[in-house]
Amino acid sequence: MAILVVGSVAFDSIETPQGRRDRCLGGAATYFALAASYFTDVRVIAVVGEDFTAEHEAVLTRRGVDTQGLEHTSGKSFHWTGSYVKSLNEAQTLKTELNVFESFSPKVPAAYRDSEFLFLANIDPVLQSSVRRQMPKVRMVCGDTMNYWITGHRANLAKVLTGLDALLINDGEAKLLADDTNLVLAARKILEMGPKALIVKHGEYGATAFFSEHPFNGEGAARMTLPFRAPALPLDRVVDPTGAGDSFAGGFFGYLASQQQVTLKNFKQAMFYGGVMGSFAVQRFGTEQMQSLTREEIDQRFALFRELSHLD
Ligand code: AMP
Repeated sequence: MAILVVGSVAFDSIETPQGRRDRCLGGAATYFALAASYFTDVRVIAVVGEDFTAEHEAVLTRRGVDTQGLEHTSGKSFHWTGSYVKSLNEAQTLKTELNVFESFSPKVPAAYRDSEFLFLANIDPVLQSSVRRQMPKVRMVCGDTMNYWITGHRANLAKVLTGLDALLINDGEAKLLADDTNLVLAARKILEMGPKALIVKHGEYGATAFFSEHPFNGEGAARMTLPFRAPALPLDRVVDPTGAGDSFAGGFFGYLASQQQVTLKNFKQAMFYGGVMGSFAVQRFGTEQMQSLTREEIDQRFALFRELSHLD
């Protein structure tokens, strides 16, 4: 099964307590695509500028990611500057330069039309909606967003939320979106905005899924009220948290798309795979770790996650 992702492909300038990197390859769609590529076929829609070289694109194609939908245009690529010096669990955005994304009008290539799964990664909700409209027959749609779009583009974001099977955001974003400091109450309010499921990522503490109605068929299709929590792996060294959320999403949705059916059981396993990919992402700068994993390493860590949260 193929996943189509639209989102930022970017250069990131990052500082963390472990050091800094200037203009390394990043972006929500990049992290997502690399993480999901270990599970299923991935196709990307985004725009990049003249500073994006063949070597940058090869990072995606080496992992088998289809880049037909990556538009090259004149100007500079999206550039995000962020810091984790104050807190490893929350990025502080220092600068967001949208550049070529400001005038981007996404077009879904004909060869992408049969994608059954759609991920609306973090980017302007207007662009997310445009791609959603061009893919009326997809089986499952998940999405992400962040503070930048929640505060400045709320009305457009509201339209995206109505069409989602699952929204994946972090604690702070959930509380901001719902304007509520209690996570459970915030989750209830967000589920009323449209998504059938909400996955709240807690950084180094794991992730929790809340459900309004099942986005699943078959087993577990009954109405579900209890949330589900998946762990994160306690690590003794976090080098760069950038992209952990997108890698979580890539592991989660990639695994789900690789399964025959979207059942509750698969959804829960997918949350564990999300945690696995997030834990790998933070161990090196930028996308370095996401580029060089093996499925065996991923499954070994999955087994560790099982151990971590298993009760006899
Ligand atoms: P996360 O997984 O939440 O750490 O996402 C990090 C990625 O999001 C970075 O690689 C950034 O390039 C990208 N990013 C930061 N701000 C934005 C934004 N406003 N819209 C889209 N992507 C962004």
